[in-house]
Amino acid sequence: MKNYVKDGFVLLYLCLPILIYMAMMVAYDASMRTIIKETVFNASVLILLLSVIFSIGNKVVKIVFSIFLLFFYIILFIQILVFYNFYNFIDNAILYTAFETNSNEVVGFFNSYGKWYQPLLVIFYLYVASRILFSYRFSLTKYKIATIVLCISCIAVGYKFIERSASLLTITTYSEYQEFTSQLSKNITKKTSSHFTNVFNKEEQALYVVIVGESTSMRNMGIYGYYRDTNPELSKMKDELYLFNDVISPRTHTILSLDRILSLGDYKKPENNELGTVFQLANQAGFKTYWISNQEPLGVNETLVSLYARAASEQHFVTNTKQSSRKLDDVLLPLLDKVIQDSQTSKKIVFLHLKGTHIFYRNSYPPSFDHFKEEPRTNFPSEEAFQTINEYDNAVRYNDYIVSLIIQQVKKQNTNSYVLYFSDHGDDVYQDYNGFGHHEGIGTNAMYQTPFIVWLSDEYKQRLNGDFNGKLERKYILEDFIYSFAELSRIEFDQFQPQKSIFSNQFIYKERFISPGVNYDERN
Ligand SMILES: [Zn+2]
Repeated sequence: MKNYVKDGFVLLYLCLPILIYMAMMVAYDASMRTIIKETVFNASVLILLLSVIFSIGNKVVKIVFSIFLLFFYIILFIQILVFYNFYNFIDNAILYTAFETNSNEVVGFFNSYGKWYQPLLVIFYLYVASRILFSYRFSLTKYKIATIVLCISCIAVGYKFIERSASLLTITTYSEYQEFTSQLSKNITKKTSSHFTNVFNKEEQALYVVIVGESTSMRNMGIYGYYRDTNPELSKMKDELYLFNDVISPRTHTILSLDRILSLGDYKKPENNELGTVFQLANQAGFKTYWISNQEPLGVNETLVSLYARAASEQHFVTNTKQSSRKLDDVLLPLLDKVIQDSQTSKKIVFLHLKGTHIFYRNSYPPSFDHFKEEPRTNFPSEEAFQTINEYDNAVRYNDYIVSLIIQQVKKQNTNSYVLYFSDHGDDVYQDYNGFGHHEGIGTNAMYQTPFIVWLSDEYKQRLNGDFNGKLERKYILEDFIYSFAELSRIEFDQFQPQKSIFSNQFIYKERFISPGVNYDERN
């Protein structure tokens, strides 16, 4: 009996990081679902490793698995410290920043946020744990069959909850980062492109802001005629805005769409994305360029955009330091402010990549924006539809607030400025089909119809011949964005094609192909 009590204490010691981590999640209000998933995953990994370590006699196996376990503990402790110091789960952006920074910066970073005794506690814990692993003999492990059954169930349970694993995230993010760095030799990541020639901008002072939205369909925007007032803030400044109302995204997925929007690639020549991007063009015109993103820097769907953004003079990926596991887009505002305040640089182009109205919609706005609660209009009535539409509309309303704050922030500077806002694509939320999200296979109009809104400062307008009225109805596809961007930013270059700029007097409508043989304007 005495042995079992001792076993219990030893086991408790070995479980300590998992228990601390669980307590921390509870203290910081993580959802019950997250707490359960995370804890079950961690517990099954721990039990599996302990069973092998304590029941197999082979010394090499024991050492190998003990190293696995120590590695697992280290990741848990990093997770705990990140949680303790930043109130957040380890995420892709935190890891990316960690991989990007050299060890000096990591130490500096830790000095400013962490406490000196934290690493000492971790080392002490790991030392005692490794003593236990190598010298303690559990009385429980003599039940061989029970141990095997336990191991198999741990593998099954762990596999089920693997998505929540910080250890796995660290490993996959690291391999994504390796893949990312292996592509950094590509021309597209360089500050300039040899394809662009005679690039020129004659301005001395400029603050240009391009807001790249996420999953926000024009169809749910009050300012574009949606029956609900999802744009109270932008509506207040409607007289100052140019609302282009027939702009579509080239694709309906972030990466596929931004690939074409930010680069020279288009439907006819997708491979031209290798030739140049908006960042390179702006750099060559003498602007300092910034990519400030509230999206993840790495991943199957993210890495390409980060590679393009690499050409920007500065890149910032937001990691959350607020007491919430949600990264709302207001985290971008202080970063924008910092860029604005930098008086060393006179010509700036800032790209802000929003989280926007990405699923799950209810995670992209704070509780104070839980505004629409009544039954919405839809051709596909169901409880799920009502709730999802309300959440999406709330997210659109929060997005309205963010975009208008950005415009206000720029307006206050009273300088030569524009703010341009569009979304990478839309989402269809029970508009044209019975469901929500963006899927190219379904590809409804709502998934392509993006807002395209321009605000201009007085100083900018003074140098503009005429205005954009009369151009707002133009049918435009964002794969030609680089030409509109160049014209709006007053960048001249040999390869400029005025017929592809929505702002140009020489604009010519072109057929808008969204997939092989499918012309957006001619499909039913
Ligand atoms: Zn997207």
